[in-house]
Amino acid sequence: MDRFFYIANWKMNVTIKESEDFFKDFLSLYISSPNKEVVFCPSFTTLPSAIKSYSDIDKISFGAQNVSNIDSGAYTGEISANMLSDLQVQYCIVGHSERRQNYNESNKLINQKLKILINNNIVPILCVGESLGERDLNQSDKVISSQLSECLCDIEKTNIIVAYEPVWAIGSGKSASVEDISNMNNLIRNCMNKLGYINDQFYILYGGSVGIDNLLSIKEASLLDGFLIGGASLQASTFWKIIDK
Ligand code: PEP
Repeated sequence: MDRFFYIANWKMNVTIKESEDFFKDFLSLYISSPNKEVVFCPSFTTLPSAIKSYSDIDKISFGAQNVSNIDSGAYTGEISANMLSDLQVQYCIVGHSERRQNYNESNKLINQKLKILINNNIVPILCVGESLGERDLNQSDKVISSQLSECLCDIEKTNIIVAYEPVWAIGSGKSASVEDISNMNNLIRNCMNKLGYINDQFYILYGGSVGIDNLLSIKEASLLDGFLIGGASLQASTFWKIIDK
């Protein structure tokens, strides 16, 4: 794999003005080594101005954090994949555990979102991960396998990013160990192959409390194509230190 992604999930943070301040600081650092592939996923309200101002910078691209499972129509408050593609959004996060937990998103709903994204040429960033209870019961492998097979059921085989994000690691300051990440990446690759994906069609990322202190050790994990980063991507200097390591 020749690509290594640093994907920033800004969640429900960062206004337009704050993003301008962020990019001013970030780009002054990025310019020193502009060869790292970075994807920013800001809020829907910040996306348009960020794309307009910064998407022509080589290796910087933008993603959304959510999309409707429906094409168009009377669905007040929803944002369609067609609207995202209208904005020239290139990526979209789906299946994040915060949406699974707080908005009851099921694998079936995630599957519908994936199909719509692919129809609109937006690369999905599909998050999978086990809860602490599932991990304690040694069910991590089973959970990830079924999330992948249910979310990716009857999906056209185009490029996709899979982010392994153990639920207990997100925002907790506790990341998974290198061994666990390597084992899970192997399992994910096997599942993807069984589902009909060839190795060049998918990338595997890790997410969950990645920061400056644990980055280098996590980078040793096998089959790792990048990171999905929440908290540590909100400050330009911190995020840059992570990317530059
Ligand atoms: C995330 O929410 O996708 C994430 C990885 O968050 P954090 O880095 O804050 O754990």
